Amino acid sequence: MLFSDLASELAALDARGLKRHRRILETPQGAHVVVDGSEVVAFCSNDYLGLASDSRLTAAAREGAARYGVGAGASHLILGHSVAHHALEEALAQFVNLPRALLFSTGYMANLGIVTTLAGRGDVVFADKLNHASLNDAALLSRAGFRRYPHGDLAVLEKLLAASTARRKLVVSDAVFSMDGDIAPVSGLLRLCERHDAWLVLDDAHGFGVLGATGGGVLQHFGVASGRIIYMATLGKAAGVFGAFVAGEPELIEMLVQRARPYIYTTATPPLLAHALLASLEIIAAESWRRELLARLIHQLKQGLTGLRWRLMPSATAIQPLVIGANDEALRVSAALAAHGVLVPAIRPPTVPQGSARLRISLSAAHSEQDAAQLVEALREVEKES
Ligand SMILES: *Cc1c(COP(=O)(O)O)cnc(C)c1O
Repeated sequence: MLFSDLASELAALDARGLKRHRRILETPQGAHVVVDGSEVVAFCSNDYLGLASDSRLTAAAREGAARYGVGAGASHLILGHSVAHHALEEALAQFVNLPRALLFSTGYMANLGIVTTLAGRGDVVFADKLNHASLNDAALLSRAGFRRYPHGDLAVLEKLLAASTARRKLVVSDAVFSMDGDIAPVSGLLRLCERHDAWLVLDDAHGFGVLGATGGGVLQHFGVASGRIIYMATLGKAAGVFGAFVAGEPELIEMLVQRARPYIYTTATPPLLAHALLASLEIIAAESWRRELLARLIHQLKQGLTGLRWRLMPSATAIQPLVIGANDEALRVSAALAAHGVLVPAIRPPTVPQGSARLRISLSAAHSEQDAAQLVEALREVEKES
């Protein structure tokens, strides 16, 4: 009974073109990888600066292992908070120009920690419809009221805020939307939060390291600062390693230390990762050529794909989604590209809204102009074949 239920649910997923399959990556993350035995050019990672397999970071990780061992062995509040974690928190706060930062094991956990610590029964979380799943899960877990506004719609958000009598209001938004690539209207969101006395939680998973002159992220990009901002970024994307952090006012961070369950009830990440991340921050700030190359690749892709049957979404970031529409069609185009040696993932519901299945092309400083040209060429061939 139990097992046949699961089997028929799985069969139904498969029938709707929604069953997920894991590819097996046999090389380090990068532009040219071996996947399931084949060499391909991949446009699938969030390794936007090409640092995930940088030899200086692997050397730093090795040095960190030699110095601190492999496991943290305890949670941060017991005896897992290493001098490497502490130094990284100080470096991160300085990097994003906020008073204090706190490491979390993952971005998913950081979002759960922020929202459940700051909001509960009687409070309200206001969320962009296209926010990352972790922010939605966080709102549900918090038991606060949960109001979602249409993507980027400040007018609707303002109405919701004005009508709310909640004790505490949290506006939460991706800074760069993970499946569309567009940037949130941060200044507008902040203005509304000031007017309606709300906190602004910004999830900069895809902006940290990439946006801003020195990779400081979305706040540097817009030149905004405010004590109301609760900034979250992940360290497994552009930073090339693993983990996440929250930055903001000292009282906010101290409250997370005291109350955030995904911070308290889990083992600290290996200190060797913090050691590698200290090296990563230096590279991110110093090597602006990585952001400049990325900008050139984005431009090249947009130019190369003009007039194609499928349209790129209006994104200025490394995330360049090509809208296909139907699930099976997106899978078919993705498979046809793979036959040309180019790997681009098809993203389907529930990750994106029904009818908006897409290829999520993600560019990286690990790519060369030749790689981008190969992608353009392959897409044009696949269009001709279909
Ligand atoms: C990847 C991502 C997360 C989760 O971060 P992890 O460190 O991978 O858990 C959170 N928010 C957004 C917008 C993301 O893209």
